[in-house]
Amino acid sequence: MAVVWLDDVRAADLDTVGGKAASLGELTAAGLPVPPGFVVTAGTYRTFIEEAGIDEELFAAVDVDSEDSAALAEAHERAHELIMETELPEPVREEIVDAYRTMGDDEEAFVAVRSSATAEDLPDASFAGQQETFLNVTEEDLLHRVKECWASLFSQRAIYYRNQKGFPHREVDIAVVVQQMVDAEKSGVMFTSHPSTGEPRIIIEAAWGLGEAVVSGAVSPDNYVIDRESGDVEEVTVAEKKVMHVKSETGETVERDVGEDRRDRQVLTEAEIDRLVELGRRVEDHYGTPQDVEWAIADGEVYMLQSRPITTISEEATAESNGGDAGDGDHLLTGLGASPGVASGAVRIVTKLDHLDQVSEGDVIVTEMTMPDMVPAMKRASGIVTDEGGMTSHAAIVSRELGVPAVVGTGNATRTLSDGQLITLDGDKGTVREGREDEDVEEREPIEEARPKTPVKPMTATEVKVNVSIPEAAERAAATGADGVGLLRMEHMVLSLNQTPERYIEREGVRAYVDQLVQGIRGVAEEFYPRPVRVRTLDAPTDEFRQLEGGENEPKEHNPMLGYRGIRRSLDRPDVFEHELEAFRRLFEMGYDNVEIMFPLVNDAEDVVRARNLMEDAGVDPEKREWGVMIETPASALCIEEMAAAGIDFASFGTNDLTQYTLAVDRNNENVADRFDELHPAVLELIESTIETCRDLGVDTSICGQAGSKPRMIRFLVEQGVSSISANIDAVRDVQHEAKRVEQKLLLDSVR
Ligand code: PEP
Ligand code: MG
Repeated sequence: MAVVWLDDVRAADLDTVGGKAASLGELTAAGLPVPPGFVVTAGTYRTFIEEAGIDEELFAAVDVDSEDSAALAEAHERAHELIMETELPEPVREEIVDAYRTMGDDEEAFVAVRSSATAEDLPDASFAGQQETFLNVTEEDLLHRVKECWASLFSQRAIYYRNQKGFPHREVDIAVVVQQMVDAEKSGVMFTSHPSTGEPRIIIEAAWGLGEAVVSGAVSPDNYVIDRESGDVEEVTVAEKKVMHVKSETGETVERDVGEDRRDRQVLTEAEIDRLVELGRRVEDHYGTPQDVEWAIADGEVYMLQSRPITTISEEATAESNGGDAGDGDHLLTGLGASPGVASGAVRIVTKLDHLDQVSEGDVIVTEMTMPDMVPAMKRASGIVTDEGGMTSHAAIVSRELGVPAVVGTGNATRTLSDGQLITLDGDKGTVREGREDEDVEEREPIEEARPKTPVKPMTATEVKVNVSIPEAAERAAATGADGVGLLRMEHMVLSLNQTPERYIEREGVRAYVDQLVQGIRGVAEEFYPRPVRVRTLDAPTDEFRQLEGGENEPKEHNPMLGYRGIRRSLDRPDVFEHELEAFRRLFEMGYDNVEIMFPLVNDAEDVVRARNLMEDAGVDPEKREWGVMIETPASALCIEEMAAAGIDFASFGTNDLTQYTLAVDRNNENVADRFDELHPAVLELIESTIETCRDLGVDTSICGQAGSKPRMIRFLVEQGVSSISANIDAVRDVQHEAKRVEQKLLLDSVR
């Protein structure tokens, strides 16, 4: 039998119907309101490939080196072609079409067709997101869509993922769920327990229209917190819901603006909340574990579309931060506390890169300034101390991401300290003392086990994202529960090649260069999928390029910060820039539709239009992809209206540069460091007017400069209505709390 009805499916049928369908069958059996449907079993797919004799060819085609993106693309194409061009046997066609006809009144009944892979319950379950969903399918397209679902087992992402995890391709089968569409008026998600703490609180997110808008993050939904025991509604946050997804006359899912009257209106009525809570309790009771449920409401009926166990509840209440007060011993040095925590260890002075292998586990690196090549050694170190640099320097950014305590800008650490000397540094206070204070200092957590300081992830209408500068930090960044990456810097990926892009291309070829970029970005995009990852095109000043091989060809500049960097360099060298854009095109082809493109240091619409045109030339469709700019110069803030007209989706404040250029204060110059003030009224005015214009024009705003981690800036931005805030890894949880507090206050003020 090619198909089974959901009514007849149970959890134990996982192997034949896949995780998604097994869960729907369970829900149906538990008497929960699931839209009717059937499953084209995994066995049907298996028989199809075996009887048609394409199985061996298929598995051979996808047995490729997945770090070779061209080979990966070819593998995907061949697998797709094999499946799509092989005819379905007549009895199977008939059975599927008959089942469809039984379900609807006529051949126009709209169904959702979704893949349900039999291995999707692998412990590392982001796998689940790797297959297809087609909405509003009718008889005409049904069989084609079923095959598309089968072929989606061999998307570039899926092939890559299985190769990475060492999971054999031939052991994964795929079933397909065909289920009646719910033409939802309202929809969203529900956590039957608190998603971080596991407390008995039901959290509901709700928006107008079809659920894709909530799941894909296209809209900020309303948020409801309900005491699961008493059913009391404890908190309601009504968000501004600008858009909704609806079914068009032709059956496609399209985005529409929400009418003024409903934008700020609460989506759920009391009765609907009660009904959802009742269903939430039942579903959690049924499974015995907290669930993450997708739901929809149509014609007054509440339907459950999907239920999965919540995997984000942390085991421990909290992880201790690195240490307490380190005492009052005399300071050997003071500088800026750039990465929090207290660490002790033996000094390892690094003046040249070839000293790096002398850095052993637990040593403290002492250097003039850190460089991209030092990252492997920085990971081994217990702490980092530098002579130079401010809070936005390479050393500060990278140590924060690695979770290694750091003190930067001490002026003379490399001369004051000596090799082997035992010291203790305090990355909060910015001090370095003689001796080891290990008795007070807990072991630093291994990087992959870092947990937010407080376990509760507050639901905020303002999205809280995280900044990532080194792909190695992706896992730690994703573990913060951030809503995505607000800034992924590309510099590190390029500078760590230790050659200028031009030299690298000369030696290794274009393909190798693009592969490097694809690999660096993909690591982060995969870790966060489907949360968005905003990748900034290259923005390294010439003084950083000069230190690399090939750097002798860089122009000598008196003021590199005012010079040949960011989009200026990219527009001037389209022959190099096109390779970055090519990397984006490949990532989109591979299925990383969560990647967004951001252009740095633009000044005006001309910069933006030229960048957009190059993007188009490289085969990236600006209409289909999310792309935008950084607001880092006063000019860009003042020209925002014209830039918006060029089609940007977002504008993100790079306050490190915006402050530097507004106040004429070099961000790396310790002599004027006390004048570097991101909260200066002039900087705030530029931000305020930009947000106001962007709100009028429907452009999202964000911050990805260092100041996004500061409470006063957060307060200011949330009050102005910024769409998202991107913070340092270690600040994400605090930013979530601060944003939530300000949102609550604004709500209270509005009703008082
Ligand atoms: C900024 O300028 O604020 C920013 C985020 O970019 P970078 O620090 O990389 O210049
Ligand atoms: Mg900048």
